[in-house]
Amino acid sequence: MKNITDIDHLITALPKDATCYGYCTACDEVHYLTEGNSRKYALELMAELEQNKRIDFHTPDPEPTFSTDCLWEKRGGQMFGVLECVDADGNTVVLRAFSGQFNTRWQAEGWVPPTFDLDGYYQILPKIESSVHQMTDDIESCKQKADQCKLKFEEAMRSGGRAAQKGCRRQMREAFKALELSKKNRRTYSQSMMFVFQDLYQLQNFKGDQHSILNVFYEDRGIPTGSGDCCAPKLLHAAAQNGLTPLGLTEFYFGKENKSSTKYHKKFYLGCKNKCQPILGYMLCGL
Ligand SMILES: [Zn+2]
Ligand SMILES: [Zn+2]
Repeated sequence: MKNITDIDHLITALPKDATCYGYCTACDEVHYLTEGNSRKYALELMAELEQNKRIDFHTPDPEPTFSTDCLWEKRGGQMFGVLECVDADGNTVVLRAFSGQFNTRWQAEGWVPPTFDLDGYYQILPKIESSVHQMTDDIESCKQKADQCKLKFEEAMRSGGRAAQKGCRRQMREAFKALELSKKNRRTYSQSMMFVFQDLYQLQNFKGDQHSILNVFYEDRGIPTGSGDCCAPKLLHAAAQNGLTPLGLTEFYFGKENKSSTKYHKKFYLGCKNKCQPILGYMLCGL
C-alpha cells in the first residue's frame, strides 16, 4: 500500500475549487469534486440553522435533542455539508449531512443517514458493552486480590517465618500476573471489536462497488476512529445508494470554535486529511 505522502504532487495539480478528493488505487489517480453550485445551498442551510435553531425543522414536533444550542456549549460546534446532485431525470437534488452524531443521535429527519449499518451496530453494541463490563469487573476483582496478597506479603516480611514469606511472595506474584492478564484480555477484546465496528462501514461508490472501509482505507497507519462519519463520505454514500450524480460539495463548520482553534463558525473547509482523504478516492470512483 502506498503512503499518503506519495500523492502530494497529484493533489497540488487539482483545481483550486476542489472541495473533496482522494487517491483511487484502482485508477491510480486522484478523484475529486469541486464546489459546483453547492455553496449557495450551504448558505441556505446556514440561514435555516440560524433561523430555526434546531436541525429537525422538517418535522412539526421539534425534539429538544435536535436544538442547535449544544453547538455553542463546551465541546464546540460541528461540521455540516451539502451535496448538489442530479437524479436520472436531470432534477437537482440537494443532500444534507451533519458530521458524526448530532447530540448523541445518528439520524434525523431531512439528513442523510450514517454510512455504517445502524441496525447491525445496535445489535452488537449491547453484547460488546456487557462483555467489556464483565472484563472490567474481572480486572477489579483481580486488583483487589493482588492488593490483599501484597498486604499479606508485607505482613509476613515483618513478622512471619521464611516459609510463610516465600508462600506469600508466590501468591502475590500470581495475583499480579492474573491482574495483568485480565487487563490484556480487555485490551485485546476492545481492539478486535474496533474492527468489527469498522466492518459495519460498507461504503458504496459510483462504480456500484460496495466495500468495507477496512479494505478501501488508503493509509497504512490504521483507521482513525470516526472515519466514514464526516459529511463528505456520508453524502457521497447516500448519493451512490440513491442513484444520484454529485455535482458539487461544500462543508462548513457551525457553532463555537473547536478546542484546537482550527474551525470557526460559518467557515468552509475541505474534506479532512486523516479520516476522509484516504477513503474519498475510492468513494468518488466512477463519477
Ligand atoms: Zn473528514
Ligand atoms: Zn477510480
